[in-house]
Amino acid sequence: MAQVTSQTALHINQIHNTLLGGAEEWSKAYGISATVPASGIYRCIGCGDEITSNKGDKFPPQNRHQHADQKAEVLWQLIVKTQTKG
Ligand SMILES: [Zn+2]
Repeated sequence: MAQVTSQTALHINQIHNTLLGGAEEWSKAYGISATVPASGIYRCIGCGDEITSNKGDKFPPQNRHQHADQKAEVLWQLIVKTQTKG
């Protein structure tokens, strides 16, 4: 689980995302080699592992993130979105 301290938590802003008008990247999960929709921290639904990814890059290919349990699907879910300028 992503961690913050009481000091760094001051820089985390909890937003209220709505289904209508909310940013799509919060409600979708992304598979192997999909294009990263927004820069931030992503959590694998299948195993709980976390990665940081930059917008426009690709999520890890199949040979870079594997599960011992083949039935556990690799799906990346955005958990912290970074706010970058430009
Ligand atoms: Zn995983």
